[in-house]
Amino acid sequence: MTFAKASEIYTDILAQIATVEPRVAGAISQELADQRASLKLIASENYASLTTLLTMGNWLSDKYAEGTVGHRFYAGCQNIDVVESVAEEHARELFGAEHAYAQPHSGIDANLVAYWAILQHRIESPTLERLGAKTVNDLSEQDWEDLRREFNKQRVMGMSLDAGGHLTHGFRPNISGKMFQQHSYGTDPATGLIDYAALERDAKEFKPLIIVAGYSAYPRRVNFAKMKEIADSVGATLFVDMAHFAGLVAGKVFTGEEDPVPYADVVATTTHKSLRGPRGGLVMCKHEYADAVDKGCPMVLGGPLGHVMAAKAVALAEARQESFRVYAQNVADNAKALAEGLMRRGVNLVTGGTDNHLCLLDVQSFGLTGRQAESALLDSGIVTNRNSIPRDPNGAWYTSGVRIGTPALTSRGFGVDEFDRVAELIVQVLSATTPAPTSSGAPGKAKYVIADGVADRTKAECAELLDGFPLYPGLTL
Ligand SMILES: *Cc1c(COP(=O)(O)O)cnc(C)c1O
Repeated sequence: MTFAKASEIYTDILAQIATVEPRVAGAISQELADQRASLKLIASENYASLTTLLTMGNWLSDKYAEGTVGHRFYAGCQNIDVVESVAEEHARELFGAEHAYAQPHSGIDANLVAYWAILQHRIESPTLERLGAKTVNDLSEQDWEDLRREFNKQRVMGMSLDAGGHLTHGFRPNISGKMFQQHSYGTDPATGLIDYAALERDAKEFKPLIIVAGYSAYPRRVNFAKMKEIADSVGATLFVDMAHFAGLVAGKVFTGEEDPVPYADVVATTTHKSLRGPRGGLVMCKHEYADAVDKGCPMVLGGPLGHVMAAKAVALAEARQESFRVYAQNVADNAKALAEGLMRRGVNLVTGGTDNHLCLLDVQSFGLTGRQAESALLDSGIVTNRNSIPRDPNGAWYTSGVRIGTPALTSRGFGVDEFDRVAELIVQVLSATTPAPTSSGAPGKAKYVIADGVADRTKAECAELLDGFPLYPGLTL
């Protein structure tokens, strides 16, 4: 599709939307303008292709398709069967997975599918077999009650939140923390890296049903062969949540022991972060878990979104092209350049660098909290998010860190020189920012002051930098 055609299509669609609800048409247009104007360093965000985005706006949305390909609870699902099976075929081929399930609506939903599939396969199925029952409906009240109690006793180990783990890895504010007893593993205080020996010792003692590997804010690679070895040694299922770094797996930046797919029993991911597809989720697994995973809808998912699965199929097809490998390698090279640019200018990075797509800045040396740094950067046109650092003295709300990633700006065409300039701009803002005193005179954790003129100057410099790398070039809206 040429951008000239896309411009016409969008102009028509927005005019049509405006006849029904102009505020919505306005917000859609404004979002494009805002995304074009911001230096987007949020490590979990990206820009999907226009082809992927346009694949979502259609009547596949109008179809109910509960069930799986060829086995639906509704009639007339032949076209949903096509898009779902194409998405799953691309996922299997791209990642070398034994089985793929394209229905999850998001990363959190994909994780829920994974957890229930593991519980079903490891706890429910053996119980049914032992009791000679075909389905849970055949169980007596007492046997059902016993099984429910058994579910409730299960344990999960996941990476601690301040080391970069995710709420869905067994933490109390998420359903996973209410389903499972959780024990966290952290990072070595000296190196900042995962301490596999400590993890192994803890796993032997805690005896989890599931070990979760994966993260949202850990700037390093994980050895999944080692993780699998530890999981096997305690009889645990290895579940890898690659929501953040699936693009680096797809683009073959993570290979061998750093590729989770050959090692993990179950893998879940988002499709919209480094993978650059539509907002959504995906589960892959070994054959052994396939039947349980395929029960995701209606186990924990609402009816599949045919239009989004269609867009997943398109984005996964794009990710199988050679150009995506180049993109993924650039994401990693750019993150290194960004990290080096920051460290050269005196910034402390958690673990002293990065070897994936993100960096975690420790902003304590600027005398700032993560919240102050995040706000000052935003005032200066740089979009990041504050994040805890390991053993964070400022807690999970104010934090002492800022997380930045390269997937989005790499999609816009930024290279290592541009990311070095980004490092310069970040340091320019942070070194001109001081905490505002509270009423007692002590430095506060939220308010801050940026030296005169720095925010405006940085904003102009960001705009100049972005000018050379238009978002959806040729799309005139
Ligand atoms: C982003 C993320 C999720 C959640 O994805 P949603 O699509 O927002 O539900 C889950 N796990 C990890 C590790 C993530 O980074």
